[in-house]
Amino acid sequence: ELDSARTEAWLRAAAAAVTAQEAELTALDTAIGDGDHGSNLRRGFTAVLAGLDAGEGGNTAGTDRSPGSLLAAAGRTLISTVGGASGPLYGSALRAAGRALPGATAGPGELAAALDEALGAVQALGGARPGDKTMVDAWAPAAAAFAETAGQGLAAASGAAAAAAEQGARATVPLVARKGRASYLGPRSAGHLDPGAASTALLFTALAEACR
Ligand code: ADP
Ligand code: MG
Ligand code: MG
Repeated sequence: ELDSARTEAWLRAAAAAVTAQEAELTALDTAIGDGDHGSNLRRGFTAVLAGLDAGEGGNTAGTDRSPGSLLAAAGRTLISTVGGASGPLYGSALRAAGRALPGATAGPGELAAALDEALGAVQALGGARPGDKTMVDAWAPAAAAFAETAGQGLAAASGAAAAAAEQGARATVPLVARKGRASYLGPRSAGHLDPGAASTALLFTALAEACR
């Protein structure tokens, strides 16, 4: 079951991962974008951590820190603190996932549905489809792998999703970007890992760590 403690552990692990990988994410974005993906996410997730420490995601009594409210609060924070494309995209994803999780705990099937809502939000906002060399190329296989293995429990499903996200990210290397800044490069975007797909793999690895 995904409870508040695991949700908070997920967000904290994600913040730790994007902070530790800031230079790598920025290097990827320097190759095919504007070199700010690492700093964008570090800034956003630092604000998410500050929100967790301040009790955000709770009601006025500070008691309703349900998985859904924690994810929705983190999403709002990302939208308001990250200037780049990735902030609204990740922010909308977490907000959509949060809204899809109404209870105090969520089973693997409910989390699978929430991850699907998150992917839907990314695609509704950004218009990218699989193969366009964006974070969708990691999100889509991760959400699908989670749903396929949800019957085996949270640990197995989140592990499978992390592996699928990682594989989906690596598969962006030969692709030509059709969305986002990298698309301005046309065919020259091929041969590079998409930064947002790489950071999506970090988010799913963080979920797997929190659910082990
Ligand atoms: P910016 O491009 O505004 O500088 P970032 O560098 O933080 O923003 O994020 C870039 C990443 O955002 C890309 O690597 C890609 O994965 C993702 N991205 C950009 N545009 C889209 C889109 N329309 N749909 C999905 N993902 C996108
Ligand atoms: Mg950028
Ligand atoms: Mg930018």
